[in-house]
Formats: sequence, C-alpha cells, structure tokens
Amino acid sequence: MNKAVRKAIIAGNWKMNKTPAEATQLIGEILAANEGKDVSGCEVIACVPYVDIDAAVKAAAGSFIKIGAENCHWAKSGAFTGEISADMLVACGVEYVIIGHSERRQYFGETDLTVNQRVKAALEAGLKVILCVGELLEQREQGITAEIIAMQTKIDLLDITAEQMANIIIAYEPVWAIGTGKTATADQAEEVCAHIRATLATLYGEAVAEATTIQYGGSMNAKNAAELLGKTNVDGGLIGGAALKAADFSAIISAAQA
Ligand code: PEP
Repeated sequence: MNKAVRKAIIAGNWKMNKTPAEATQLIGEILAANEGKDVSGCEVIACVPYVDIDAAVKAAAGSFIKIGAENCHWAKSGAFTGEISADMLVACGVEYVIIGHSERRQYFGETDLTVNQRVKAALEAGLKVILCVGELLEQREQGITAEIIAMQTKIDLLDITAEQMANIIIAYEPVWAIGTGKTATADQAEEVCAHIRATLATLYGEAVAEATTIQYGGSMNAKNAAELLGKTNVDGGLIGGAALKAADFSAIISAAQA
C-alpha cells in the first residue's frame, strides 16, 4: 500500500451466501469485532447478494462499512428478466458494485465487452466500481499473464475517462487463486498490480495511475493479508471466503491499518 497517494480498500465479496437475517447478523458481528478500534486506515465494503442489500444497508447505517453489490446490468431498464440495473442499486443505498468477477466470466458468459458496458452503466448511475481482472492458470503457465491483464484492463475501461477513473478500483484476481486456498505470493501480486498501474499510466498518465486503488484478491486471509498488503502496489483486498467470518474479515481490516 502507498497510503500517501491512494486509498486502501478492503472489500468482502459474499458471493451467493447469507440470507437477509444472516447478513444483518454478520454485519453486526463485524461491527462488534471492531468496536473501539481505529479502522480509519482503510475503507471497508461488504458486497452482498441483491436480496441482502436492504438488510445490509440498514445494519451498516452510520458505521464504517459501506455496501456494494456483486454485479449490475448495462441497461437502465427494460426486458431483461432476472437482471438488476445500476439505478436500482443506487435507489437501494448501494455505493459500490463488483463488475467482471471471474465467476461471472466463467459461469455466466461475461466478456470484456459486456464488462465494459456494465462499468459504463454503473459509473453513469453514480456507483463506484470494483473492476476484476485476472489470468487463468493455463495463461500464467504459458507466460502470457501480462498480455492478458493489459488486454482485459484496456477493453474493460474502453471509453472510460481519466475523471471517471476516480470512481474505479481495480481488483487483480488470479483465477487460479480464487476460492482454491492457493494465494499468489506477495511478489506475484505486486508484479501484476504494478503491471496494471503501468497499463493505467499508458491509458491515463502517471497521476491517474498513481491515484488508482488496485486490490489483490484470491484466498486472502487473516494470515497472509499483512504480507500482501505490505507491497507498494497492493492497495487492499477483495476477499471471498474470509469475508464470511467476522473474526477473519476483521483481522484483514486490522492488517490494512498499518
Ligand atoms: C473473490 O471471490 O473475489 C475471492 C477472492 O474469493 P476467495 O477470497 O474466497 O478466494
């Protein structure tokens, strides 16, 4: 992290877990675990399933936890059965949205072009975007991680302006490390996060690149968080499994205070 120039952000991705009642409980537990602690060293977000948004917004009201969603559609409204628009999320009190998570790409046909459309719609509605990029294991083994990451970053951010970048966080999530218990080493995470920053510099210039928060995600947990967050270009974490346990998520929040 380099807090002198950019914000550290710890975000939980709850995926398809927790009912509204369980969401209220988990947020209450996270708040209780952090009571009396100084958590001002990072921003904290819980990205929750659509049906949990109302409960989560109420449970987190007035606290340090901000609420995010896990996806949104690119259209403002219309015949898209089963989908949710960015405006709908804003109306429910959501501030952030994850776009382009590898599980959306892998299981729901998400492409860089649809990711780009969703990013634009989310920004237009006033949401802040956590944009996920990451290579597959085969791509890492082929030695093309840098090309894949640069390509995803460039297509996903097509037509996004330098001003709009103030509302974009990038999450580097190597697909082989998500939910597998295999974490990228701190050096691997730093190398790719630095590469994303260099790619942003070619697109928007040094100042925007330096100011953009770039998170690492992929089996980050209470034990490895401090080492990962100790790297200059790793400005936070997007956390799946460990975000579902108040003690683990709180330990990561604490690690981000340094
Ligand atoms: C994620 O879902 O974005 C993620 C990083 O999951 P996990 O922490 O479980 O690997």
